[in-house]
Amino acid sequence: MQTKVFLKESEIPKKWYNIAADLPSPLQPPLGPDGKPVSPDMLAPVFPMNLIEQEVSQERWIDIPEGVLEILYRWRPSPLHRAHHLEKALGTPARIYYKNESVSPAGSHKPNTAVAQAWYNKQFGIKKLATETGAGQWGSALAFACSLIGLECKVFMVRISFEQKPMRKVMMQTWGATCIPSPSPETKAGRDVLEKHPDTPGSLGIAISEAVEAAVTDPTGQTRYSLGSVLNHVLLHQTIIGLEAKKQLKKIGEKKVDIVIGCAGGGSNFAGLSFPFANDKIHGAAIDIIPVEPASCPTLTKGPFIYDHGDIAKMTPLLPMHSLGHSFVPDSIHAGGLRYHGMAPLVSQGVVEGLFRPMAIQQNECFRAALLFAKTEGIIIAPETSHAVAVVIRKAKEAKEEGKEKVIIFNLSGHGLMDLNGYDAFLHGRLVDHELHQDEVDAALCELKGLPLPTVNRTGKW
Ligand SMILES: *Cc1c(COP(=O)(O)O)cnc(C)c1O
Repeated sequence: MQTKVFLKESEIPKKWYNIAADLPSPLQPPLGPDGKPVSPDMLAPVFPMNLIEQEVSQERWIDIPEGVLEILYRWRPSPLHRAHHLEKALGTPARIYYKNESVSPAGSHKPNTAVAQAWYNKQFGIKKLATETGAGQWGSALAFACSLIGLECKVFMVRISFEQKPMRKVMMQTWGATCIPSPSPETKAGRDVLEKHPDTPGSLGIAISEAVEAAVTDPTGQTRYSLGSVLNHVLLHQTIIGLEAKKQLKKIGEKKVDIVIGCAGGGSNFAGLSFPFANDKIHGAAIDIIPVEPASCPTLTKGPFIYDHGDIAKMTPLLPMHSLGHSFVPDSIHAGGLRYHGMAPLVSQGVVEGLFRPMAIQQNECFRAALLFAKTEGIIIAPETSHAVAVVIRKAKEAKEEGKEKVIIFNLSGHGLMDLNGYDAFLHGRLVDHELHQDEVDAALCELKGLPLPTVNRTGKW
């Protein structure tokens, strides 16, 4: 019984997959404050031009530069595991596989794009990156990448996570970055929030405003902003996960996949695993592709598809996405990486199309799933990842009831060794479930009246 599938370094994918080239209905452009599409020039103070070109590219395959591959070899190709022990505990006829992204130095999938982004910024002559981080995974991934590539790095960390996960800050500092809690008094965006809500737990939306402000106000012009999820080029960089997984499934003899699952915060690890499979679905394969989100931040399942800002201070362009409203501050659940009001436009458009079918899960069910996973497969997964595992378990049980040999694959997006406070709270019965109700969603969306609406493009195929 084979448990893991490895690829040789020489078998690593040499191109990223850009789903924008294959979407059945086109992605709508980001809009500026005037309601007109944003031009690449307008983004130039925020991102380097080589990444802006990727952001708007319609090329199906984009070469991964040799310099990026050389760094990815430190941990890639990542292993594909067969979850024999979880299957046995569930008594399911399903075959469950997971792509183990927890083996990266920072402990999650995020270095896949951090390395690429730092590399392109360096090529463009940039000296420093500013960013935000939720639970701290993105901040540590970017700190890691910047230290290898030779860039300075400044991280605004959502206050609640800064307090819950102080060791993430130490990781960032070890890799040479600076990390401060957000909202901070260092930026106008931060000061504005602190004045109105001095006790705020913070949010990704606030921290993004601070990091963008820090980048565009650097008088030397040598700082750019870097985002760990949501944007097209970020999702592009993550597709190496699904491309590797397809090769690995083939090696272990699987001809067909029935269900693909990933947790979704901004959408990047879900997209990274699922987009190469979505390509098969677009070309006729029957695959159930499921992004999983927290019931307390149900962006895809309860948020409408609208044009909204990515941040609270409305510094980002309007993106066509599912959103709970840019001023929404989600409940302080332990899956900090899933506490984002919006969702990647590429994932959102896929949901509008019916290509992806989202689910929302409560945190106690997620932690129960995480404990079963730890006691069977052995890995203590990130609270974010536990959302995917909870749905894997539901689907494996369904397969048992139906007596069907389904093939299920999910993205093990990260380990939870820096998130043991969440486990501690669960083990001591201190975790409360919280579901966001439609009236709360409607209230948060009130502020968005007057913004342009995207058209709902749907071919009706799925
Ligand atoms: C950041 C993070 C997520 C959520 O972000 P996505 O962009 O939706 O992938 C999920 N899992 C882990 C381990 C993370 O670090």
